[in-house]
Formats: sequence, C-alpha cells, structure tokens
Amino acid sequence: MSYTIDLHGKAALVTGAGRGIGQSIALALAEAGADIAVAEIKAELAADTVAQVAALGRSAKAYAVDVSDFTAVHAMLDVVHKDFGHLDIVVNNAGITKDTLLVRMGEEDWDAVLRINLKGAFNCIHGAAKIMMKQRSGRIVNIASIIGLIGNAGQANYAASKAGLIGLTKSAAKELASRGINVNAIAPGFIQTKMTDVLTDELKQAMMNLIPQKTLGLPADVAKAAVFLCSDLSNYITGQVLVVDGGMVM
Ligand code: NAP
Repeated sequence: MSYTIDLHGKAALVTGAGRGIGQSIALALAEAGADIAVAEIKAELAADTVAQVAALGRSAKAYAVDVSDFTAVHAMLDVVHKDFGHLDIVVNNAGITKDTLLVRMGEEDWDAVLRINLKGAFNCIHGAAKIMMKQRSGRIVNIASIIGLIGNAGQANYAASKAGLIGLTKSAAKELASRGINVNAIAPGFIQTKMTDVLTDELKQAMMNLIPQKTLGLPADVAKAAVFLCSDLSNYITGQVLVVDGGMVM
C-alpha cells in the first residue's frame, strides 16, 4: 500500500487559475507531477501561472476563456484534449462575488454570479465528462464555499450559486461514478486572496472570532485538499463536500 501522491502523466485543467486559490491549486497539482491547462478569462493572468508551472518542470498551456460561455468552454476542452491527449482532472475554481443585501440586489448582479459560479462549472463538467467517460476515469473538484452551506447576509446570489454547485457535485457524482469519475466539492472558509482583500479590517476580525483555529486560511490550505481529492488516496470518496475553514462550520 502506497500513501504517496503521484500525479505524473495526468493532465489537469484548472479554471480561474491566474491567481488566488486557482493558481495555488494549479501549482500544487504541478508539484505532484500533473501537467496543467490554465483556463483564465484574462490571458495575462494565465501567463504568470504557466511560467510558474514550467519552472516546476511540468508542461503548461494557457487558455483564455470565459467559463460562463457554453460554446467557448466546449471549444476550449476540445483543444485541451488535443494538446494533452487526455484529460484526467478538472478543478472548477473560477468564481466571483457581487455582494449586496437581497432587496438591493439587481438582476444583473444575481445573473452574473449564478452564470459564472454555477453555470460555469456545469459547462466544464458537461464538456469534460464526455472525455472522461470515454477514458473511464477522471477527477472533478468543484470549489464551493461554506457560504453555500450556511448562507450569509449580503451574499444571497453567491450563497445560491455555491449551494447549487454542491447539488451539481452530488448529482454529477451519482451519474458518473460507474464510469470511474469521482466528483467532489471543497468548501473553503475565509481564505486570504484578492476576493477577500476588499473586506474591512473590522469584518476580517469578526470572521477571525468565528474561526476556532484563530487564523485566516491560505490558498495553499485549499490546494492541499484539492490535491488529495485528485489523487489515488481519495479513490473511494465521491459526492462529498470537504470543508476547509479552520473549524468555522461544523
Ligand atoms: P480570485 O482571487 O478573485 O480569483 C478568481 C479567478 O477566477 C480570477 O483569476 C478571475 O479572473 C477568474 N475568473 C473570474 N471570472 C471568470 C470567468 N468568467 N471565466 C474564467 N475565469 C474567471 O478568487 P479566489 O479567492 O481565489 O476564489 C477562487 C474560488 O474560491 C472562487 O470560486 C471563490 O468563490 C472560492 N472561494 C473563495 C474563498 C475566499 O475566502 N477567498 C472562500 C470560499 C470560496 P479575473 O481577475 O480576470 O476576474
């Protein structure tokens, strides 16, 4: 029995991998041996991750794509499949927030968050599952949020998108299990990235008070969980939500 993680020979697509949690996941998968398809809405962000993956000695290629565009995502997946010859891992990480109280929330803010956070993951799973079903193997990891589990004032759109992503994860896991494809979600708590930098120090302190481990999370904390869910160590785990939050939600 081996307890080592070795992703050599695997091709992994990570969306929103230009910075923050997505970049950290891409680099952690590359450190474990995987070659990386970096999907980003902004090409210049993707280039930085590609350079860092290359510095680790792995192959990497950038794909400029808006994950909410069904046709563009499918076209990208075709190219990724051709470039790498196979597709073993997909991490649906791209996500946005547009926070405001429910009664002040405009239709556009609702639609944008659902389109990118939820439909974006559907688009990638829809395209990737076809490739993985033929391979009879694959790993899909969806980056949800504890907000999808507990809700949050000012984040009705975000909470709905992440709760939806958890439902999508479980349904896809049930549909794809017999084809050797594991589908899981990670629900991070408060992680230090550009997404959370915008919050006031007061709010950050209030969050900290709710975290039993008394420290904010780092992108690498989420990346380690993602590598585990993409490895052989999690072969018998599917349809689960792994909470990475320093104990905030239990
Ligand atoms: P981030 O720093 O804002 O990074 C998100 C990345 O996704 C950015 O590079 C962004 O590119 C890209 N992106 C946005 N819209 C896209 C689209 N339509 N198509 C392709 N790429 C797109 O956020 P993060 O904090 O690393 O969060 C990553 C994921 O973790 C998100 O799903 C988020 O909801 C989730 N999460 C984060 C936290 C946290 O505390 N940070 C907690 C729980 C869950 P642009 O810069 O060009 O927009």
